[in-house]
Formats: sequence, structure tokens, C-alpha cells
Amino acid sequence: MPSDAYSWIEQSLATIHKADWYRTVQAIQGRSGATVEIDGRSLINFASNDYLGLASDDRLIQAAMSATQQYGTGTTGSRLLSGHRQLHRELESAIARLKQTEDALVFSSGYLANIGTISAIVGKRDLILADQYNHSSLKSGAILSGATVIEYSHCDLVSLQTHLQQRDRYRRCLIVTDSVFSMDGDLCPLPELLDLAEQHNCMLLIDEAHATGVLGNGAGCVEHFGCTQRQLIQVGTLSKALGSLGGYVAGSKILIDFLRNRAPSWIYTTALSPANAAAALAAIHIVQQEPERRQQLWRNIDNLKLLLHQQLPHLQLLPSESAILCLLLPSPASALTAANSLQDAGVFAPAIRPPTVPTSRIRISLMATHTFAHIQQLVDSLSAIEIVSPKSARGDRQ
Ligand SMILES: *Cc1c(COP(=O)(O)O)cnc(C)c1O
Repeated sequence: MPSDAYSWIEQSLATIHKADWYRTVQAIQGRSGATVEIDGRSLINFASNDYLGLASDDRLIQAAMSATQQYGTGTTGSRLLSGHRQLHRELESAIARLKQTEDALVFSSGYLANIGTISAIVGKRDLILADQYNHSSLKSGAILSGATVIEYSHCDLVSLQTHLQQRDRYRRCLIVTDSVFSMDGDLCPLPELLDLAEQHNCMLLIDEAHATGVLGNGAGCVEHFGCTQRQLIQVGTLSKALGSLGGYVAGSKILIDFLRNRAPSWIYTTALSPANAAAALAAIHIVQQEPERRQQLWRNIDNLKLLLHQQLPHLQLLPSESAILCLLLPSPASALTAANSLQDAGVFAPAIRPPTVPTSRIRISLMATHTFAHIQQLVDSLSAIEIVSPKSARGDRQ
């Protein structure tokens, strides 16, 4: 008799199908830019986190190739054993300069940076207050830490304040938030969060994954809000606007020194590859030296909002202050249909459905390398497919 211990997997998949929650991958052929090739067809790409178009920039490619020539493909060990290279330190210094922090620490991904940092700085006797829409990696880090985790309503300072009344029952308290919310596109109220953190003797950790390279002069949401000089912990990724792979934490020298000794996802994993480190370092220089890329991205964002407002005023957009713009749809099935129709019309923009988000949507991300014609074609395609917005609104139009 074959064992039945695994039969639940098939049943579980059937349930996923039934709810229209089933997900599959799509292979992109060749380099990914403002357009991509899928199944031999060229599509305009509104699905990428490569906001500045750096992932296929020749300077990053050259940097990755030279580093590979010089150091080889793998780092052969963890940073504390045989994996550390001078290149890692140069990258960390560049991140610290960009973020205007004393120091920084590079992880092998943003996900690892988040779970490692959170689990290192709080534990069983502590409290985490987390925005309900935080990224999966922040939620996983919170669970891994063993701290008591309470979610406050999305960007809701009153809800946070209510939960802060419990703060004194715990040793340490950490407030955790995305800066740009990855599946919504709105910003956390950082100055107010910092005020509350200071008043209640809490630490604050902010995830700048979708803001680095995009907001402020490229340093992110902290810079955008003029909070660079305030005490906080910044985490982020090298894999979005920086076009590479890897994650980082930026903060005080003492914090970074502590993490090198206490963050398990930094200590017990192989150091970032030379190619990824060199590409990220090249990207940081470009972010600092070519502000015109960021300015073009923001012109594209403004143009899309304007065209949508003029041509499709009935669509429900979530509030956005970033390169991410979401269009609400009434159900997972309608979101999938819309994404498929867009793809037929030559536009690649994914349907995001539960359980990733509470309400289904089409998620559009803009790049500096989109042309006005690309944006116009997106809006024309959205007009042609006659999207029905859900009846109950969450968030008003921009
Ligand atoms: C993408 C993302 C991460 C994870 O970063 P990776 O480098 O891709 O692992 C973490 N936080 C947020 C908010 C993200 O959007």
C-alpha cells in the first residue's frame, strides 16, 4: 500500500484552484526591460521592480563580469569564515553613504536581511507592533523572533497608539513597517511613527525595498520625509531599483556590529556572490550620479495618473505615492481575466490576488525607461477591456 500521508497535498491544490488562487510562472526570454518577450511576443513590461532600468544596464553587466573574472562565481563560505571579500565592504560603505548612516551590512537577499535583523533584536520578552500590510519577510521575521506580535490597522496611528498602551508589559518594543507598501504603493507615515516610537521608548524598523532609488534623492522614504538624522533601523534590497540581488541593513555602527554577531541569516549563509555585489555597487553609483533617471520615473508616474484620470475616471485606484499603482477588481477571477486580456493586448501587468492581498487587483509598476507611448498603450488597453470596479471601495481615487 502506498502511503496516504501525502494525499492532502493534491486536495489542497484542488482547493487553491477552486478559489482562483492558483499561481504559475511565466518565462521571460532575453533581457528584461521596459518591454519583455514572453512566448515569442513582445509585451510592454509593467510587472518589474527594476524601477530605474538598471538590471540590463551595460555598466552593471560589465561590473558583474569583471567581478566574476576577478573573484570567481561563488564566495565559498559565510562572511565570518571564507566568504568575505573587500568588495562586500566597499558595497556596505556605499550603502551607508547613500543612506547617510554610520554603517551597513549586506545580506544575501532582502528576505534574509529582514528575518535576520528582526529575530536578532527582539525575543520572547518583547513586543512587535506591525502594520497589517507588511511584507511577508517582515511577518516571518516577527514570528521567528518569538516576540509577541500585534498588527495595527494599515497606516493607522490611532490603532498603533491603542496597542502602544501595552508597551510597558514588555522589555523591548519594535515598530515594523514597509516604507512603500509593496502591493499597494502607498507610504507609511514615517515622521509620526518616529514620534510615537520616541515617546514610547520603541525601536523602529522600516523596509525601504520599493523606495530605495525611487524616493528622495535615491536614499528612499527616510530621505523623502527628511528623517535621515533620526534614530531608526533601515532595511532594504539590492534587487529592485538597484537591479541586482541581495539585501542590506543600514544604521548605527553598534547595531551593525551586533548583527554581525547575532543575525543567524547573515552568519549561517553563504556570502553574496561577487557578481551581485559588484552590480549593486555600480547601481548605487548610478543612482547618485544620474538623478535624471529618477526624474524620468516620476514624470512617467505623473503621466500615467493623469491619463487614467482623464480617460478612465471610473476606475478604482489605490492611493499611491510611489512607482506602484494598483487597480482594484471585484474578484480573483476578474483580476485574472483582466491580466490575461491585457497580455493579449501586449501589456504585461500581473493580477495580485488573495492570499497575498485582501482584495484582488492589477498591479502596475512603472520604470524610468517606459516611453510616453508605452504608458498611452497601457491606458488604451485598459479602456478596451472594460474593467468593472468593485462596488465597495477601499481607498479613493488619486
Ligand atoms: C521584495 C521585498 C523584500 C525581499 O527582498 P528580496 O531581496 O527580493 O529578498 C522585502 N521587503 C519588501 C517590502 C519587498 O518588497
